[in-house]
Amino acid sequence: MRFDIDTDLRSGRCKSCGAPIYWIKTRKGNWLPVNRRAIMATPVQIGGHTFVLVDGSTVQALPEGAVRYDGVDSVVAFEAHFATCPDADTFRKKKRR
Ligand SMILES: [Zn+2]
Repeated sequence: MRFDIDTDLRSGRCKSCGAPIYWIKTRKGNWLPVNRRAIMATPVQIGGHTFVLVDGSTVQALPEGAVRYDGVDSVVAFEAHFATCPDADTFRKKKRR
């Protein structure tokens, strides 16, 4: 799958688990660590976590397939790394500082 990324993107590694990530600049101007592989995500009202679209906007969503189709089309998005980081607890603590 190919798509244009219309926002600032920097490659890096998770300081916690060492996984390759991208830093993506959201429309709010924050740099957010995301998993490198963009996936299809389905926006949800409840229980989702943060995904960043290729234009830098954020959406609460779940990976496609994790939710029943509810009339909401999936989007190509990067999942926030802290949602899947095996060291998420450490990561959050560091972030909270
Ligand atoms: Zn990590």
